[in-house]
Amino acid sequence: MIRINENYTKLKASYLFADIARRVSAFVAAHPDRPVIRLGIGDVTEPLPQVCRDALHAATDELGRRETFRGYGPEQGYAFLREAIAQHDFQARGAQVEPDEIFVSDGSKCDLGQLEEIFAKDIRVAIPDPVYPAYVDTNVMAGRTGGNRDGRYEGLVYLESNAANGYVPAPPAGPVDLIYLCFPNNPTGAVATRAQLTAWVDYAKQHQAVILFDAAYEAFVRDPAIPRSIYEIPGARDCAIEFRSFSKTAGFTGVRCAFTVIPKTLMGYDQAGQPHALHALWNRRHTTKSNGVSYPVQRAAAAIYSDAGKQQTRALTDYYLGNAKLIREALTKLGFNCIGGDNAPYIWVNVQRDSWEFFDLLLNQAQVVTTPGAGFGRCGEGHVRISAFNSRANVETALTRIAAALK
Ligand code: PLP
Repeated sequence: MIRINENYTKLKASYLFADIARRVSAFVAAHPDRPVIRLGIGDVTEPLPQVCRDALHAATDELGRRETFRGYGPEQGYAFLREAIAQHDFQARGAQVEPDEIFVSDGSKCDLGQLEEIFAKDIRVAIPDPVYPAYVDTNVMAGRTGGNRDGRYEGLVYLESNAANGYVPAPPAGPVDLIYLCFPNNPTGAVATRAQLTAWVDYAKQHQAVILFDAAYEAFVRDPAIPRSIYEIPGARDCAIEFRSFSKTAGFTGVRCAFTVIPKTLMGYDQAGQPHALHALWNRRHTTKSNGVSYPVQRAAAAIYSDAGKQQTRALTDYYLGNAKLIREALTKLGFNCIGGDNAPYIWVNVQRDSWEFFDLLLNQAQVVTTPGAGFGRCGEGHVRISAFNSRANVETALTRIAAALK
């Protein structure tokens, strides 16, 4: 008899975005004449930058000629991409990251979901609340939690982000072993200062813990005082792994490319207390379970580091940040306290009532889809997330409708 991984039965039955999709479909079926604007799921809407399209075409043509054809590439990614990443994303900002510390992959969701495999099952895991749901669910699947009680899994340490701490949690009083941090944050749009990240790095070093730093939205940081990488903080090479994605930086949600940085100096420990390089463990895992990312996609990703690529991706993120500014201003004018939207494509709106109730109100009265904060964790209750990923015209129409609906 084939038996299942029973940890899967601990997971909440439906996924947040499936619940939202069901409510939106029901509304659309009942009101086919009232078009809905989606500011819910954080998927990009604007076309792929020209440099990326050109690189995809050129690389595809190379694969069409015998002399330039390529088969399997290096599992960790081509040198041309890893060198460009190390130079432009890190070394240019004073952060020490070497090309061979970078693992190219087809998405941060996969990397974030799978990296937990290299750690022991009985470690203490700290996870923010509210949170990008994949961090929690993958640890549930791995058996690091008990059951779900009142919306929280037994065994996890929740790092509460709320108005009182400016939506940036401080390190916990007691020790933990693995810490998930995400800045700029999804869902709150909050960013962490240098001092706040330094406190986390100091804590992690003190407890021989590892920080998994999700920087999927770093390209939206405009405040020069805000670190874009955890490696801008002294000591982070000894306690942090960083995840980056081309999804939101360059509109790659459908193209798929991301990377993970594991410094060679970063250690984990066996039961006897002997150190092991996490880079070597992940390299072993990655080369066993992956054959890397396609050549044209890696060429398209590398294209964003050219001068034209930098301009085009900046224009893309500026466009969404322009939407974010309009959303935050409009919601603030309507009397809501908001954060995010200045260095992030998400606006976290304190609606001071049940978040699903507010979601339904906007869906039914304004035909605008948001994301109810309760779906991101207990601390998300009382909030909705509004995404800036849409066309300017749709954002403007949505804001006019929201203002009319809330009058
Ligand atoms: N991390 C965060 C915080 C995200 O919001 C997302 C996507 O929405 C991801 C990671 C996943 O990115 P990718 O498209 O590279 O899988």
